[in-house]
Amino acid sequence: MKSVLITGAAGFLGSHLCDKFIHNGYKVIGMDNLITGDLKNIEHLFKHEHFDFYHHDVTKFVHVPGKVDYILHFASPASPIDYLKIPIQTLKVGSLGTHNLLGLAKEKKARILIASTSEVYGDPLVHPQSEEYYGNVNTIGPRGVYDEAKRFQESITMAYHRFHGLETRIVRIFNTYGPRMRLNDGRVIPAFMGQALRGEDLTVFGDGSQTRSFCYVDDQVDGIYKLLLSDYSLPVNIGNPHEISILEFAKEIIKLTGTDQKIIYKPLPKDDPLQRQPDITKAKEILGWEPKVSRSEGMKRTFEYFQGLTEEELFRSEHKDFSKHNRL
Ligand code: UDP
Repeated sequence: MKSVLITGAAGFLGSHLCDKFIHNGYKVIGMDNLITGDLKNIEHLFKHEHFDFYHHDVTKFVHVPGKVDYILHFASPASPIDYLKIPIQTLKVGSLGTHNLLGLAKEKKARILIASTSEVYGDPLVHPQSEEYYGNVNTIGPRGVYDEAKRFQESITMAYHRFHGLETRIVRIFNTYGPRMRLNDGRVIPAFMGQALRGEDLTVFGDGSQTRSFCYVDDQVDGIYKLLLSDYSLPVNIGNPHEISILEFAKEIIKLTGTDQKIIYKPLPKDDPLQRQPDITKAKEILGWEPKVSRSEGMKRTFEYFQGLTEEELFRSEHKDFSKHNRL
């Protein structure tokens, strides 16, 4: 039986990856410090005989007993609101955390896949973004802590690959959504869905002409799985190329939720990318992967998830108190 260590296991993507690997017959070791992750996302796995969980912060030395065949490093805050609240942890998990996990992979002779991001392209001047584009990142802006941590993460991963001969994979994840997104993480999909469910107006930032391309989580996880098992060590974009402006998207959500919410406008956050669309030629050619779930189907499934939240969860302003972690 192959065993896989998944960091960020209690997070949105991490928990779906745990499900995927358990389903495919792996032994899964989940790890999370639970700053932004939530045990609720993986509690259904605790009864499974091939699932283990370590409550651990990967910015500290990481030890796992026994054989590890694969490591997937998915621990990181991943929303602009979180970067503002826990900027140092965001930098540390991408840099020190990645270093620790590369060291562990070397020790265990494991293959490691690291979660990178479309944010390495910053506010892109090239459209759509292919893996060859070097990006346009403001190093000292509010998103810089995430973007630069992820860029460093790619560099150190390639250094371990080239210098130590480590088997490495790098996925550049574009906006992904689905059940288990945190309701109040500030991202646009939970924000709009939460607002619709609470009967509030939808907050569009700027004039809403900025674009995003949303990938359903099952497609994303499938792409990551295929990349891990491929023999390709350079970065690969995984995302859905169907692009939409945020204003159009707000209108779609109003239609989907059957509410009569109005749209109100708020200032555009600093360095908010104006357009984003993955070029997935590489993923198609190398992995034979492309997304299958349409936006309408994926949004329907996601809205059903948010509809299943309790009133208390729906109206809680933020279920995480980050303040104590700022001392870490
Ligand atoms: N956005 C918005 N209203 C919100 C939250 C986000 O208009 O309540 C916009 C945000 O400015 C950005 C887009 O939606 O242009 C996607 O934001 P998100 O935080 O989901 O992801 P990212 O900017 O990292 O792609």
